[in-house]
Amino acid sequence: MTMEMPPLSSLYQQLILDHYRHPRNKGELDPRTVEVHVYNPVCGDEVGLQMQVENERIADVKFTGQGCSISQAAVSMMTVLLKGKPLADADTLAGRFTQMMHGEPEAARDKALGDLRALQGVSKFPVRIKCALLAFDALREAVQRTRGGTR
Ligand code: ZN
Repeated sequence: MTMEMPPLSSLYQQLILDHYRHPRNKGELDPRTVEVHVYNPVCGDEVGLQMQVENERIADVKFTGQGCSISQAAVSMMTVLLKGKPLADADTLAGRFTQMMHGEPEAARDKALGDLRALQGVSKFPVRIKCALLAFDALREAVQRTRGGTR
């Protein structure tokens, strides 16, 4: 998409572009226990999240998608952190990342966020927050479906 990157620090910008150009865990996951597709109409971002959950644990995760660098880097960074983690960690991570996007400095220092911390500057650009949160919208829904939620 044509929306430009917000002016983030160059180190963070490099990390975002690296995930955007060389996405981790991109592709189709087979077998998989859950698949969620989300869309951000504001800039046309798409994320398809596929997970293989075994015994409340994310055994494997992959994504498909297209869109701006923020949205695609965020989902790439997220999958790196989720692989092999208990499902409960997905809730914690989603909560933490959302706090960071709301500009909470304490969340932005949390090392558990890994490369996702590169996106902290996005919190200053309200239009782009949706791009960064798209991956986590997909994750929340995937977790909910796995637990047999009604959505
Ligand atoms: Zn976007």
